[in-house]
Amino acid sequence: MHKNGQKFFVTTPIYYVNDVPHIGHAYTTIAADVVARYKKLDGYEVYFLTGTDEHGQKVHQAAKDLGVTAQEHVDKLNTRFKELWVRFNICNDDFIRTTEERHKVIVLNILKELFDKGEIYKASYEGWYCTPDERFWTEKDLVNGNCPECGRKVEKITESNYFFKMGQYQEWLIEHIKSNENFIQPASRKNEVLGFLSKPLEDLCISRPTSRMSWGIPLPFDDDYVTYVWFDALINYISTFGTLDKIRACGFWPADHHLVGKDILTTHAVYWSTMLKAMGLPLPKNIFAHGWWTVNGQKMSKSLFNVVEPNSLIDQFGVDTIRYFLLREVPFGLDGDFSHKALIGRRNSDLANNLGNLLNRTTNMIQKYFAGTIPEAATAGEEDTALTSKAAQTVSNVRAFYDDLAYNKILSEIWELVDATNQYIVKTAPWNLAKTEEGKERLKSVMYNSAESLRTIAILIYPFMPESAESMNRQLGIDVPIEEQGMQSVAKWGGLKSGGEIQSVSQLFPRIEDKEAEKILADIQTSGDSKKPQAASAKSDEVEQITIEDFMKVDLRTGKILEAEKVKKSKKLIKLKVDIGNETRQVLAGIAEAYEPDQLIGRTIILVANLKPAKLMGIESQGMILAGSADGKIILGGFDQELPEGVRVR
Ligand SMILES: [Zn+2]
Repeated sequence: MHKNGQKFFVTTPIYYVNDVPHIGHAYTTIAADVVARYKKLDGYEVYFLTGTDEHGQKVHQAAKDLGVTAQEHVDKLNTRFKELWVRFNICNDDFIRTTEERHKVIVLNILKELFDKGEIYKASYEGWYCTPDERFWTEKDLVNGNCPECGRKVEKITESNYFFKMGQYQEWLIEHIKSNENFIQPASRKNEVLGFLSKPLEDLCISRPTSRMSWGIPLPFDDDYVTYVWFDALINYISTFGTLDKIRACGFWPADHHLVGKDILTTHAVYWSTMLKAMGLPLPKNIFAHGWWTVNGQKMSKSLFNVVEPNSLIDQFGVDTIRYFLLREVPFGLDGDFSHKALIGRRNSDLANNLGNLLNRTTNMIQKYFAGTIPEAATAGEEDTALTSKAAQTVSNVRAFYDDLAYNKILSEIWELVDATNQYIVKTAPWNLAKTEEGKERLKSVMYNSAESLRTIAILIYPFMPESAESMNRQLGIDVPIEEQGMQSVAKWGGLKSGGEIQSVSQLFPRIEDKEAEKILADIQTSGDSKKPQAASAKSDEVEQITIEDFMKVDLRTGKILEAEKVKKSKKLIKLKVDIGNETRQVLAGIAEAYEPDQLIGRTIILVANLKPAKLMGIESQGMILAGSADGKIILGGFDQELPEGVRVR
C-alpha cells in the first residue's frame, strides 16, 4: 500500500482496571480505532495505544477483600478489557499496563530526572483528603465541607509529601492553550480549562505515604512514599516508546490525539501538559474531550448496566451496528443517550434499508443482467456525472471532517452518497434499460457506476465497520482487501476493475423485524423495572439509596463456624464450614491476616446466604461473611449475646 511517510499517534486513556468495562469505555476506544484505521488507510504509519491503569487504593482494597494480592487481582482484571477490544475489532498497536516493568522503569527515570532538576520538592502539607478519590483538597475546594468531586466526607491530614512545581507553569500553559487553537477540543471544553486556570494553580502533590497506600510505584528518592496514581498513569502515553531519548527519536511524539472523557480533561490538559513541559517534551497536538452516555434517558447506573453491557450488545446486534450507532448518533464531544429503540431504528433505516438494499439490488442486477460479471462502463450520461462528482465531493468532505474528529458528520456524508446512488438507480431505471438493445449498452455503465459507488462507500465506511466493509468489497468481486486499496484508490472514479465476479454472500445487515424489536424492548423494560434507576441528580460515586424491599432481597443469616483452615498458597484466605441451621456452607473469607483458624471455631457470624457462589483459587465459596475493617485491620461482625444458627438478620 502507498505510504505517505508520515506518522500518526492516537491514544485512549488507560482504563481503571477495577472498573467493569462499559459502553463509555467502548465509545472512546472505538472512536480512537476509527481514526487509527482511517490514517492507516491514508498511508500513515499509525501507532494506537490503549491499556489499563492498575495502581491505587481501590485496587488495593478490592484485592484485599478478595483475599488475593493486588498483582494477582490486576493480572486477572485487565483481560476483561483486552478481550472486549478483540471482540470490538480494535486494532491497537500496544496495550500498556502500569504494573508492567517497562512502564515502571520509565516512571522512575522521569521522577529521578525531575527531582534532580529541582522540579520536585518535599514539604509538609495540611489538607483535606478524600480517601475514595485518593485526592487532597484545599479548604476552598470543599463543597459544604465535603469532597467537591464525590460529595463524600473528607479527612484533615497533615503529613510530609513530595510536590511537583506545577504552579510555575500556569502563565505558560494559558498562553499555550490560547495560541494553539486545536490543542483542546471541543472549544466549550477549552473554555472550562481556561476557567480552571484563572484561579491560582498550586503545586501538585505527587506522593502518598506507603503507610497509608502501598500499591503504587515507590519514589526512587524516598521509599517511604509511592507515586500518586495520576502522575504514574499519564506517563503511559510515552513509556510505551521507552526511554526519553527513544521517545524523542521515535517520530510518534507529540501525540496527534489524546481522546479522553470530559471528566479527565483537566488532568490531561493541566497535569500532563506541565509534566511534559518540565521533562522538556513537546505537548500533544490535540486533547479531545468527549461527552458521556445516558441510557434510555437515565444516568448510567449499576442497575442499568446489564442492558448496555458491551458483550451482550455485540451478541444481540453485531459489532458493526454498535460501532456505527455510537459514532453516528451523537456529535463527538457532546453527551448522548443510548437507547435500544434508536439503535434498532438506525440499524433498520441506515444499515438495512439504505446501504443493505443498495448492495443487494446492485449485485442482484449484475447477476441478472450480466451473469454476475462487472461490466465495462461505456457511456457517460448526465446522471453519471452527477454521481461521480457527488462521490468526489463526499471523499473530500469526509477527509476534512476527520481533522475535527466529526464522526457523525463523516457518516452523514457517506450516507448522502448511499442515497445519491439509490436515486441514481431509480432515475436510470435499469429494469427498463434491460428491455432494449440500446438500453443494454447504457445498462453497462449504470451497473458499473453503481458498483463503483459501492466500492467507494465500502472504503469510506471501513474505519467504522471494518468487517462489513470487507464483506461488501468481496461481494463486489474485488480480491484486494480494503486495507491494501487505501484512500488513494478513491481519489478518482473508476478504481473498480470490470470483469470481476460478483460473490453472493449472506445479507449484510438483516432488518430487525417489528416482532423481534418489540421483544428486545420489552426485555429491557422488565429488567429496567425490576431495578429502578436512581434520580438523575445522583453523583456517580454517591452511595445509592435503596428501598426496604431492596434490602430484604439480601438474605442475612446467623451461622456457626464448625471448621476453619488456611487456604494453601494464599496469605489471606481462610476456608470455613458454617452451619446455618438447615445446611452447612463452605465459605472463603479474606481474614487470614487478622484471625488464626483456631480463634474462629465456634464463633457465630453473619452470612450473606443468597450470594451467588463464586470460585476463589479454585475453591467454591457459598456465601460471604460480614466484617468491617479500619486501618487495614479486619474485624468480624457478630452479636453481643448468643443467637442460634440460621436466624434471619435484618
Ligand atoms: Zn471524593
